[in-house]
Amino acid sequence: MDRRKFLKISSIFGATPLFARSDERLFFKFPSKPFEYYHLKSPKPKFKVMLIGGIHGNEMGAYKAADMLVNATLKKGELLIIPRSNFTSILADVRGYNGDMNRKFAYISKRDPDYHYVELLKSAILEYRPDVLISMHDGYGFNIENKRAWGQSVVIDEFRYKNFNLFNEANFVKNHANIYLKRKLGLINTRTFTSHIHDEQKKALTGWCLKHGIKAFCIEASKQLPSLKEKVRTHLIMLREFFKLYDIQIEELNEMIKNPSKFMDNSMPLITLKINNKVYKYHANKKIKVPKGSEIEIVSISGPRGAFAIPLGVNLNWKTFHARYLNINIKNDFVKKFSIKIRS
Ligand SMILES: [Zn+2]
Repeated sequence: MDRRKFLKISSIFGATPLFARSDERLFFKFPSKPFEYYHLKSPKPKFKVMLIGGIHGNEMGAYKAADMLVNATLKKGELLIIPRSNFTSILADVRGYNGDMNRKFAYISKRDPDYHYVELLKSAILEYRPDVLISMHDGYGFNIENKRAWGQSVVIDEFRYKNFNLFNEANFVKNHANIYLKRKLGLINTRTFTSHIHDEQKKALTGWCLKHGIKAFCIEASKQLPSLKEKVRTHLIMLREFFKLYDIQIEELNEMIKNPSKFMDNSMPLITLKINNKVYKYHANKKIKVPKGSEIEIVSISGPRGAFAIPLGVNLNWKTFHARYLNINIKNDFVKKFSIKIRS
């Protein structure tokens, strides 16, 4: 509209600007969710191994096991770990907050809220070019009891793919890990490229890796294992066998398998807020009353690597928005630690 018309309309509402209504509401600004990767390297590594956790947000055994290795002492080898590749879904504790991320590797729309993270993951893989990539999951059920269930298994896309003998390595890991596991592993071959039964796997991370000349496997604990500890332990036992194949030695690995809880960071997060440009810090439940029209910025959340703040009842992809009031949950991955209630 031209300027004259605008002046006419605003004069109807008196001196207040046209969009005055939003001024009464509170304005919120959240930080971007981090995409963190960790590089561990010993003096003379023979192989590069990449571990990807958290593509599916409700598979905590997978991302907690990957996260635990970030603090490990690497005596031999080289590791690149991305424990939380889909942090939004981890915080929401759902498989895919924006749909299944593990179907977005062959193609993803620029408008997809996962676009940024999938592209970061792809470029990290292509730049690093590991000798092997392991995509970590917690599947449903127990494969050994039900062939259609993916839980407790090592998954390959083909017995052989180009010069990769996927079956030999997967079978070695399965057989050796089974010596130490109460719930035994199965081996799944999805035949991604030679049959149409699992066409969707062409869009998955491992299928995409193979297409780009990178050897890749999926390892699955079971969602039905009785505790997080058992899920993490299953992952670490499978990884220990892969590490034998790729000459990786981790000082604490056996201790981690014996007592995983000891290595999980459950410390309290600390949230730093700016309310109308004044800084406040909280690490426990808090109710805050602010003037109408206030600006509230979440500056940072520190503490365990899974610490983040999520607004309740608001789309988790949004970084800025208006609201009359807001409850914010401060979480460590799937666990709520405390909440901040903001009212005007
Ligand atoms: Zn999964």
